[in-house]
Amino acid sequence: MVLGGTVITEDAAHRILSPGAVAINGTDIIDVDRPEVIARRYQAADTIEARDQIVLPGLINTHTHAPMVMYRGLADDLALMEWLQKYIFPAEARTVSPEMVRIGTRLAALEMIESGTTTYADMYYFEEEIAKTTRDAGLRGILGQTIIQLPVADAKTPAEGLARAERFIKAFRGDSLIVPAVAPHAIYTNDETMLKASIELARRYDAPLLIHLAETEDELQTSRAQHGATPTGYLESIGFWGPRTLAAHGVWVTDEDIQILKRRGVGVSHNPESNMKLASGAAPVTRYLAAGVALGLGTDGAASNNDLDMFGAMRQASFLAKHATRDPTAVPARTALDLATIGGAKALGMERAIGSLETGKRADLITVSIGAARQTPLYDPVSHLVYVTRGDDVRTTIVNGRVLMRERQLRTLDRAAVIAAANRLAPAIREAVKP
Ligand SMILES: [Zn+2]
Repeated sequence: MVLGGTVITEDAAHRILSPGAVAINGTDIIDVDRPEVIARRYQAADTIEARDQIVLPGLINTHTHAPMVMYRGLADDLALMEWLQKYIFPAEARTVSPEMVRIGTRLAALEMIESGTTTYADMYYFEEEIAKTTRDAGLRGILGQTIIQLPVADAKTPAEGLARAERFIKAFRGDSLIVPAVAPHAIYTNDETMLKASIELARRYDAPLLIHLAETEDELQTSRAQHGATPTGYLESIGFWGPRTLAAHGVWVTDEDIQILKRRGVGVSHNPESNMKLASGAAPVTRYLAAGVALGLGTDGAASNNDLDMFGAMRQASFLAKHATRDPTAVPARTALDLATIGGAKALGMERAIGSLETGKRADLITVSIGAARQTPLYDPVSHLVYVTRGDDVRTTIVNGRVLMRERQLRTLDRAAVIAAANRLAPAIREAVKP
């Protein structure tokens, strides 16, 4: 059982218990109530004392590229296409390997566990290595094998990428932590044949489809010129969208696009920090929310953020929406926290299992300290979580009932070894991208 000073459930009634307790049995939450009620009903074998902390659902990062933590700070202050074509794609061609992916994913997993992320959606190469590493670290992942037209480290041709994706799905479907997915990179990096093959593969195995969508104005204009439609409209015309699809970014969308995404039950990942850093624009978050689109929050890869801290993503989602609409009531703290928890679960189609602290859901939860100067005084815990809390304030992280970190002590990863391995690999990466 977890005893909290405050328990923020993120259930439909937005129930907050002060104090509160969460009873866990195996992988599941079996009760959420006041501590004395829980103590009367259950005999706890282990009690996590968080009476001076806030307990909340684990955060859900709906868009990242885990191994890209190895490119953190390698090429900053560039526009998306220049950044991708001059730095990231060449760096990836020279340095992505199963070993690099393992080392990078381990570092990403360490950062996520330490900053309170319990589930993440990923799009990258050698995704089976990411899946194994994620499972060993104890995190939950919706992991997409990339399909891309250009020759990449794990596939010389897109057909090879597809075959790899199919093997990946077969190897991991039914796993308790990993949901294998197909991830065609974007419409500007895949032709229609590849997009349709990706759809066919995903439908055959009932696997999610992940894609980058309408990230930049350039993508929108190219799509209009090539297909006579917006990226969303083009993908609609080839039958891409369905309830198991997740679109990252969705910055340059029309009202009609938003209606398509709503009608098809598409999950959308909003990535405010990446969009701001690459100056891609501001996704119309308030219009998505008004339309009832399943919206989650992501960090994007660490090469464009530059961290995986979902507390930062919450804060920036709120600020960016206010700034872009010149409306200080846009995306209040409550909404930002929803996006990072139950909203992300809905975007991933996993709201029956995760996203809130409710009886019958998986036990994915975190505890956060509130004793720092910047958290004092405390009138409203939700305000503090969004506006002053940082990933470093997370004390305990539990996924699927398993304690991955307790009072900052890692249980599944050797912190020093993970960081040392990343530092050993870094010089080779720097060497590979020297002009
Ligand atoms: Zn991305």
